[in-house]
Amino acid sequence: MRHFFHKSAFNGIRKLRVFHGVKHYLLWQISVLVLLMCIAFPGKADDKAIMQELDTIQTLSDRNNEEGLRQLLEFKKNLPADTSPAVRLEILSVLSSLYFDAGNTKLGRQTLTELENLAKQVQLKDALLTLEIYDAYNIFEKSGFATAVAHLEKMADKVANSNNTNAQFRYRATLAAFYSSNFRFDQALKQYLDMLKLSDQLPRRQMQAKMATWGLISGLYLQMKDPEKALTATTEALAVSSSSIAPKAFVEISISRGVALSSLKRNDEALKEYESALKVAKEEKLPYMVALALFNIADQYLIKKDYKRAEAYAREAMAKSEAMEDSWGVAGAKVNLGLALGYQGKVKQGGDLVKESIAHFDKNHAKSDVETIIGELSHMYEAAGWYKEALEQVRQQQKLSDEIFQSDRAKAVAALQEEFDSEQRKRQIEILAKDNALKDADIKNHRLKQMVALLASLVGIFGGCFIYMLYRRSKKLNAQLQEVNTQLEFHAVRDALTGLHNRRSFINLMVNRTGRVENERREGAYRNPDCMVLMDIDHFKNINDTWGHAIGDVVLKEVATRLKNVVRDEDMVMRWGGEEFLIYSPKSNPEQITSLVERVLKTIGDKPFTHGAVTIPVTVTAGFISVPFSDVPEEFCDWERALQIADMALYLGKTHGRNRAYGLARLLVPHEDALPTLTHDLAAAIRDNMVEIIEVIGPPQDLAPITVSGYHAANHA
Ligand code: GH3
Ligand code: MG
Ligand code: MG
Repeated sequence: MRHFFHKSAFNGIRKLRVFHGVKHYLLWQISVLVLLMCIAFPGKADDKAIMQELDTIQTLSDRNNEEGLRQLLEFKKNLPADTSPAVRLEILSVLSSLYFDAGNTKLGRQTLTELENLAKQVQLKDALLTLEIYDAYNIFEKSGFATAVAHLEKMADKVANSNNTNAQFRYRATLAAFYSSNFRFDQALKQYLDMLKLSDQLPRRQMQAKMATWGLISGLYLQMKDPEKALTATTEALAVSSSSIAPKAFVEISISRGVALSSLKRNDEALKEYESALKVAKEEKLPYMVALALFNIADQYLIKKDYKRAEAYAREAMAKSEAMEDSWGVAGAKVNLGLALGYQGKVKQGGDLVKESIAHFDKNHAKSDVETIIGELSHMYEAAGWYKEALEQVRQQQKLSDEIFQSDRAKAVAALQEEFDSEQRKRQIEILAKDNALKDADIKNHRLKQMVALLASLVGIFGGCFIYMLYRRSKKLNAQLQEVNTQLEFHAVRDALTGLHNRRSFINLMVNRTGRVENERREGAYRNPDCMVLMDIDHFKNINDTWGHAIGDVVLKEVATRLKNVVRDEDMVMRWGGEEFLIYSPKSNPEQITSLVERVLKTIGDKPFTHGAVTIPVTVTAGFISVPFSDVPEEFCDWERALQIADMALYLGKTHGRNRAYGLARLLVPHEDALPTLTHDLAAAIRDNMVEIIEVIGPPQDLAPITVSGYHAANHA
C-alpha cells in the first residue's frame, strides 16, 4: 500500500493525505486553514518589521525546521507588549505549523486553540471569516458532505467580496478537499485550477502556495489513478521555483513522484525518490515525512517481494507513527506489515493486521483506501492458497470500485481538462491583450460592427452601397485580429519580452524526452549527450536600481540577442525566469560545451552594454551539465535532477566571485554513491572527490566604479 499525503499550504503543516478521508484532513487542515489566515496586517511600522522578521524565520524553517522553531519561540517570547493581535495571530499560525512539522502534534493543536481563542476575542474580520470556512470541517464530520458544501456555498459571496485572497484560496482548498473525498474529482480539479490562478495574488508565499497546489493536483490524479498526469503535476511543482528547492518541499515532491513512478511500475526510480526523501527528511528532522518515506519504502520492498526488508521498514514506520500518535500512519504501516508477514507464511496473523486497518479506514470513510487495501489483501490470500478468503475480498473490492469510478466522472474530468487548457491560453491572451495593436483592432472592429447594425436599420434611406464598404473594412479588421491571435499562440511558448522560448515550452519538450532517449540510446547518446547551461545575470538588481526597470528590460533583451548569436542553430536559448537564461544544446561533446560556455561569458562580459548615453557592464554566472550525465542512465539522473545540479554549480559560481561558470565534467565514483550527496550539496561532493569540475572564467572587468553613483561593476573576481 502506497501513501501520499500532502502538505497543502504555505506555512508548513499541510498534511493532507489525499488518499484519505476528510476526518483526517480535519486534523491537519485545521492548521493549514488557520495558517492561511494571513491577517491583512495593519500598516503600523513596528508590525511591518515584525512581519518581516517572521518571514525570515519562516524561510529559515523551510530549510531547517528545528532551528526555525527555536528562533520563533525566542521571537515570540520577546515580542513587544503592544504588538497587534493580527500579528500575534499570524505568529501563532506559523508556530503551530512548525510544531506539526516537528511531529509535536500536542503543542501544534494547543497553539491552534490559542489562536482560535484570540481570533474570537479580538473579533478580527478576516480571521473570523477563515474560522467560518473552517467550520465546514466540523459540519462535515457531524452531518456529512452535502451539508458541509451547502455551508460553504452559502458563504460564497461573502468570500468573493472579501478582498481577502487567503480566505478565497482556503475556501477553494476546503471545497476541493470535500469534493475529492467524495470522488467528485472534476469539481475538486476545478477548485485547484482556481487556486493556481489565485496564488499569484496572495500576500505572502505565493510560490509555496502554487507549488503546494500542484502537489494537490498531483495527489488528485493519483486518486484518479492517472499516475502519468500526477507525475507531470510534480514536474510543474518543481518548475514553480527556479532556485534549488527547500528541503521540506523537496521531500514532499520526491514522495509524490515516488508514488506516481511506482504506479507506473517504474519501481527502481520510485525507490530512489523515496530514499532521497528519507535521507533529507531525517537530516532536516521532519518526522512525519520520515514515517511516510519509510512506509513507502516498505511498499516498494513488498513489490520487489523482499518481504523481510518490507517488514523491517513497515515496523520502523509504525514505530515512528505511534510515537507521534498518528493513528492514520499507524493504520497504514500496519497494512504493509500485515502483508509482509502474510507473504512470509504468517497468513492468519498478517491478514488480521490488515483487517484491523481496513476497519480503521472504513470507520473514517476512506473508501478508496479500503478499496486498495482489500485488493492487496486478496492477492496475499491468493498467493497463500487461501482462495475462499481471496474471493471474498475480491467481491468486496469490485463493489467498492464500482461505487468509486462511475464513467460519467471520467468524462467530466476530460471535459474539464480541455477547459483548463483553453483557460490557460485565455489567460495568456489576457496578458497580451495589453498589446495595443490587438486592443485597437478589437475596439475599432467592435465599433464598426455596431455601426453596421445601426446603418442596416437605415438602409432604406441611404442605400446598401456604403454599408457594404463598411462591411468590407470590418472583415479586413477581422483578418487582422486573426493574425494577432496567431501571434498570441506563438507567445504561449515564447517569452514576451525577449522572444526566446519560455520555461513551459522547454518542459513540454523535456516531458517527451523519456521515450525519445530510449530510442536514441543505441545511437550513442552517452558519447554525445545533451547539454544544459543555466545562467543568471550578476547583480541584476543593481542594474534595475541604478538605471530603472525599463533599462533592466533592455539589458535582458540584449543578453538574449547576444546569447542567440553565440549558439549553434540546433541549440535552444530560453528565458528560464526573471534574469535567468538556459541554453539547451543537444548532442554536444564536452569540448564543444566548454567552448560554448566560454563564448557565452565572453559575449556578455567582454563589451559593456550601451543604451543611449549609459554604459552598463554586465556579466553572468553559469552552471552547466549534460544529460545523460557521466554515463548515468536517466532513470537515476534525469534532466530535472541534472538541472538542479547545474543550479547548484551556478550558485557556486556566485559565491566564488561571479562572472564565471562551473560545469560538471564527470563522476569519479559510482553514481549510487555520488548522486545522493550531489543532488543537494555540490560543495560536499566536490570536497569528497566525487565529481570532476570544470571552471571557466569570464573576461576581466574594469574595477573602476561606473559613472553613475551608487553602482559598482560587481565582478571583482
Ligand atoms: P546575483 O548576482 O546574486 O544574481 O544578484 P542579483 O541582483 O541578480 O540577484 P537576484 O537574482 O535575486 O535578482 C534578480 C532581480 O531581477 C530581481 C528582479 O527585480 C529582477 N527582475 C526579474 N525579472 C525582471 C524583468 O523582467 N525585468 C527587469 N527589469 N527586472 C527583472
Ligand atoms: Mg536570479
Ligand atoms: Mg542575478
